[in-house]
Amino acid sequence: MMSATSSHLEALEALYKALTFLEKQTLPVPTRAALNNAKRQLQNLRNALESPPQPGTDRLAALYRVSQSLGASLKLDEVLTQVMDSVIQLTGAERGFLMLLDRQSGELSLRAARNIQQENLQQEDMKVSHTVIQSVIQSGEGVVTTNAQSDPRFAGQESVVFYALRSVMCAPLKARGRVIGVIYVDNRAQSGIFGEEDLNLLNAFAGQAAIAIENAQLYTQTDRALAARVAELETLSRVDQDLNAQLDLERVVELTRQWALRGTQARNCWIILLNDEDELRFAPAQPPALPEDIVSFLTTPRASADLLHLPAREDHPALCLATLVHNRQTVGGILIAGEKNIEPAARQFLKRLADRAAAAVQNARLYQAVEAANEAKSQFVSIVTHELRIPLTSIKGYTDLIRQGVVGPITEQQTEFLNVIANNVERMSRLISDLSDISRIERGKLRLEPSHFSLPERVEETINSLRHKLEEKGQTISTELDTSLPQVYADPNRVVQVLTNLISNAWKYTPEGGRILVRAYPLDGKVQVEVQDNGIGISEEDQKKLFTQFFRSESPAVREQTGWGLGLNVTRKLVEIMGGEIGFQSELGKGSTFWFTLPVEPAPST
Ligand code: ADP
Repeated sequence: MMSATSSHLEALEALYKALTFLEKQTLPVPTRAALNNAKRQLQNLRNALESPPQPGTDRLAALYRVSQSLGASLKLDEVLTQVMDSVIQLTGAERGFLMLLDRQSGELSLRAARNIQQENLQQEDMKVSHTVIQSVIQSGEGVVTTNAQSDPRFAGQESVVFYALRSVMCAPLKARGRVIGVIYVDNRAQSGIFGEEDLNLLNAFAGQAAIAIENAQLYTQTDRALAARVAELETLSRVDQDLNAQLDLERVVELTRQWALRGTQARNCWIILLNDEDELRFAPAQPPALPEDIVSFLTTPRASADLLHLPAREDHPALCLATLVHNRQTVGGILIAGEKNIEPAARQFLKRLADRAAAAVQNARLYQAVEAANEAKSQFVSIVTHELRIPLTSIKGYTDLIRQGVVGPITEQQTEFLNVIANNVERMSRLISDLSDISRIERGKLRLEPSHFSLPERVEETINSLRHKLEEKGQTISTELDTSLPQVYADPNRVVQVLTNLISNAWKYTPEGGRILVRAYPLDGKVQVEVQDNGIGISEEDQKKLFTQFFRSESPAVREQTGWGLGLNVTRKLVEIMGGEIGFQSELGKGSTFWFTLPVEPAPST
C-alpha cells in the first residue's frame, strides 16, 4: 500500500486553504458548486492519506463484516454491486470489475463495474487485461502484478501496453470447485498498489462472494422457473375453459392449433385427426414435408400422450409431435414446426396441451356422432310416418264406406268389428301425427303460422270437439276465462292441438263423474292457461319422468287407457317453439293441473 508522507498532506492542506479562501469571494453559482465538489474530493483524499486501509487484523475484520452482509440479499444485481464496492473498499483499488462465465456458452460477460466513488462504470471504461483474466479462469488461481508494464508475464500483451495498465489484481470466483467468474481490480496510474497480501484477501473474499452469487443465481433461476410455471398454469386454465365450452369439432381443432402456436412460439402448427381405420386428416392442410417417423409414431398404439422431437434436417424443419390420447386410444396429434430445435419448455407445454385437447377432440367427435345418429333417426321417422299415412288413409276410408252400408248391408257383429278397426286406425294415425311432429320439430322443419287471435274461442272449439267423450264418462267441464284477456300471438291450430292433448289427458286420467276446469288469465305480460282435473294424479316418482318420450305411468289406471306416451312431449315442444313455457302441479289420488303460457306479441328479433 502506498504510505502518506507529510509533504503530501501539507500540499493538500495548502490547496484546501486556497479553495476555502476562494469560496469567500462572490462567485457565479456553477463555479461555487465546482469549488464545493473539489473541496469534498480533497477532504476524501486527506482522510484516505491519514488513515490508509490497515493490513492484518483490521482488514480481516472488514472482510468478515462484508462477507456476512453478502448473504443478506438474494437479488443477483444487488449482490454483485455490493461485492464490487466491498472489494474496492478492502483493497483500495481505483476500479473493479466483476465478470461471470455463462455455463452453457462459456462466454464471459461483465456484470458489475464500479469505481472508488461507488459509481457504475460504462462499457468504454472496460480497458482491462484480458490476458490476466484468461489466465485466472484457466488456472483457477488469483494473479497480482505490482507493475504490469514491467511484469514479464504480461508486459508484451496488447491490452497491457495499449491501456497503460500498472497495478492489476484478479481472483477467481469459485463455487463448489467450479470457476463461475472473476473479480478484477486495478489502478492504471500507479504501480505497486497491490501486494501478495492483498491477493490473499481478495481470494478469501472472492470465495465468499462466489457462494453468495451462486445462491442468488439459483434463487433467480428458481424464481423464474416458478413464475414461468405459474404463467403456464394460467394459460392452461384458459385453454381448459376454451376447450370445455366447445362441442364443435372444427372449433376445437382450430382452438387447439391457436393455443399451440401461442404457447410454443412455433412457426407452424397442424392438428392431425386419426380415425379407427388409421386414416389421417390434417388441419389446416397436410404439411409439405411429413417424415415417415411422424406417421408411424402416431399410429403406434400407446396408453397415454407422448412426444416425438425431430431436430431440423435438410428435408424438414425442426418438428415436435404430441399425440392426443384419450382412454388409451390415439385420436390424433398436434404437430409443430420451428426454425431451430423446439425448446424443452415448448415441448412440455405441447404435451400438457395435448392432454387437454385429447378429451375435447373425443367429446366433440362423440357429439358429432350423436348428432348424426339423431339426424338419421329423425329422417327415418319422417320417411316411415309418410309411408304409413297413405295406407292408413285408405284403410280408414274403406272401413267408413263399409260401416255406412255403401257396399251392402252389414250385420251387427260386422259393425262391431269395423268399429274396432276404426278405433285402432285412429290410434295409429295419432301416433303417426305425434311422431311426425316430433321429427319435424327436431329437424327444425316445423312451420308455424302465428297470428294474433282470441283464445276463448279456441278453448270453446276444443271443448266442443271433445264434449261427446266427456259426456260419455259423465264428466263436467267448465271454463274461467278472464274477460280482460288480451289476444295471444301464436299458431291457433297448434294451440288447439296443445289444448286437445291436455284436456284429453284430463278426460283419460279422471274417473267417471270427475270435474275438469279450463282457466285463462293474464300473467307477467303473457297469458297463462290451466287445465285442472280431480283425477288420479301423478306420483312424485313419475313426475320426474313426465314430458319424456314414450313415458307412461305403470299404474293400472293409466295402463287401461290407450296412449303412446308422446302427447306431453309434443305439447311441451309446441309450447316452447311458440315462445311459452309449460309446467304442472299434481298430487297422487287428488288430481293434476297442467299449465302453459302464450306470448301476446311476437318475440323481438335478435
Ligand atoms: P299418453 O297419455 O299417451 O300416455 P302423454 O304424454 O300425454 O301420453 O302422458 C304421459 C303420461 O303422463 C301418461 O301416461 C300418464 O301417466 C301421465 N299423465 C298425463 N296427464 C295426466 C293427468 N292429467 N293425470 C294423471 N296422469 C297424467
